[in-house]
Amino acid sequence: MPEQADDCVLADYPLHDLIACHECDLLMRRADLVEEQKACCPRCGYELVVHRSNMVRRALALVLTALLLYVPANFLPIMELNLLGQTTQDTVWTGVVGLYQTGMGSVAVLVFLCSMLIPLVKLLCQLVVLLCIRYRKGREIGMQIYRLYHHLREWGMLEVYLMGILVSIVKLIDLADLHLGVGLACFIALLLSQVWLEVTMSSHQVWDELDSEGGAHASH
Ligand SMILES: [Zn+2]
Repeated sequence: MPEQADDCVLADYPLHDLIACHECDLLMRRADLVEEQKACCPRCGYELVVHRSNMVRRALALVLTALLLYVPANFLPIMELNLLGQTTQDTVWTGVVGLYQTGMGSVAVLVFLCSMLIPLVKLLCQLVVLLCIRYRKGREIGMQIYRLYHHLREWGMLEVYLMGILVSIVKLIDLADLHLGVGLACFIALLLSQVWLEVTMSSHQVWDELDSEGGAHASH
């Protein structure tokens, strides 16, 4: 747990050694962590910093898994529907095209952005940032891309899309002959690997790695 010090002592530390709680704004000295240790705020209990061992290697494996799952998740059938003798296979992509063709262009664009384009851009951002750290190159670019990733975080809504799929499955199951497709399994696996990736890729560790690559820590 980080040490809490009184104001006059706290002011003597360089800025880099201080940390503010994201939730309750308590300012304290940054704890030196060893691998797999975490520091929580003594006031509200929020997880301040966590130090993952082999973070870059584990995160790279997860980001590559997610990128491999991205194509089947979006382009293989989520479900096969047999209604009155007519069989249709629905993928995420045909869902977007279907919305567009039925005159709901703006909804189609929103679904395309939140369930296809932004999750892909997020994964590519994470890949580039991890490669910058791994090969100790392009620190400035890595930082800009990681900032972009933080802006995009709120816009990728795979879990909302999954909820939509589950609701439609429940509604359709009595009306038609419904078979779940391999695309749905890939979609769920993609979602899980993304959640796992977010947990593994400790943002404090990433910022520290990007920041320290050029040499000494900047004390601004
Ligand atoms: Zn706190």
